[in-house]
Amino acid sequence: MSHWMDPVKEIDPDVFDLIQKEEDRQRDSIRLIASENYASKAVMQATASVFTNKYAEGYPGKRYYLGQEFVDKLENLAIDRAKDIFGAEHANVQPYSGSPANLEMYYALCEPGDTILGMGLPHGGHLTHGWKVNFSGRFFDAHQYSVKKETERIDLEEVRRLALEKRPKVLVCGASAYPRFIPFDELKSIADEAGAYLVADIAHISGLVAAGLHPSPVPMADVVTSTTHKTLRGPRGGLILCKKKHKKAIDRAVFPACQGGPHLNAVAALCVALKEAAQPDFLTYQKNVLANANAMAERFLELGYRLVTGGTDNHLLLLDLTDKDVEGKVAAVAMEKANIVSNANSVPYDTRGPFNPSGIRIGTPAVTTRGMGTSEMKQIADWIHACINVREDDAKLSAIKNEVVEMCRSFGTPW
Ligand SMILES: *Cc1c(COP(=O)(O)O)cnc(C)c1O
Repeated sequence: MSHWMDPVKEIDPDVFDLIQKEEDRQRDSIRLIASENYASKAVMQATASVFTNKYAEGYPGKRYYLGQEFVDKLENLAIDRAKDIFGAEHANVQPYSGSPANLEMYYALCEPGDTILGMGLPHGGHLTHGWKVNFSGRFFDAHQYSVKKETERIDLEEVRRLALEKRPKVLVCGASAYPRFIPFDELKSIADEAGAYLVADIAHISGLVAAGLHPSPVPMADVVTSTTHKTLRGPRGGLILCKKKHKKAIDRAVFPACQGGPHLNAVAALCVALKEAAQPDFLTYQKNVLANANAMAERFLELGYRLVTGGTDNHLLLLDLTDKDVEGKVAAVAMEKANIVSNANSVPYDTRGPFNPSGIRIGTPAVTTRGMGTSEMKQIADWIHACINVREDDAKLSAIKNEVVEMCRSFGTPW
């Protein structure tokens, strides 16, 4: 049977074999990792286009090498689409991914050693928001805010206290494991009061923001960074949006400060993804992402689980297993044996410690792309509950896996 990767098969059967196995895995499993999705075939094909062969250091009209006629049109198209969909004054579409986008944002707004303030990793923040083992924790005087113990929502009083005490150059908000809306308005007034730039990292939620289903930070933030491959459902890559006054600094920070030539194949695929994101189907998709996260949250509550913050406003939920006799990792490994793929995650004020967390993070972007709806979400929650209960019984986990595979296959393949 012919396969769209046949040229790979001819040259490198080992890699072809792994591609095929990964395709099977993505088809036959329930993928609940909140940062993952299925890019469309159009996005994947643009990623595989001849733009991968081109060097284009610089920006449209200002390149170092020749042969940029189509590249310049492509990058301008991506910039215009990004500005349009997010209502931004400026867009830079060259960042290689979300972490480089944040590096570039700091480079543009700070000097080495400056003070920054971001949300702590154990509370849902990202490594690049000032965590110790990351460049952002090493090259800056990084301070971290938390969520409130009682509400598990961002502790705005603490943010304000730290901002006024430490006077950060940059106040970073946005998260990787926070199930509620980010209060951009309140954070903006704190940043203003403290004389800090406000940066919003919308890596996880950019698809919801693009669809207007999560409040947008674009009107008030100095700089907005994002990945392009999470809820936005594009190729792997990064994006920086900013106010006009930061355009020069941001563009210089991306090139020549932190990167060389842009990955134009990813820029081409981002262009396609942004076009997809402007279609009515995309709004329906993002609405379904939210409906699915809600349906799953409801079912978990019925089954007696505790959810961090008690529910969700976005595409993810955090199951708190603290009061169950099972650790997050053990639960996630049992689920994987039944082809339900998620990740163990810290919950706020975790009693088990960062290497053995008490939570499971569950996201609905990928399963929603496959067309699964609220009845499947209830079924998935029931399967997860069953996996946790029979976690030591491989035969029972394998029986669940058979049901999971059958359900997954009934939704076909997304490519
Ligand atoms: C995923 C993520 C990033 C990093 O993106 P990579 O593409 O993995 O480098 C940055 N910030 C947040 C909030 C994220 O969730």
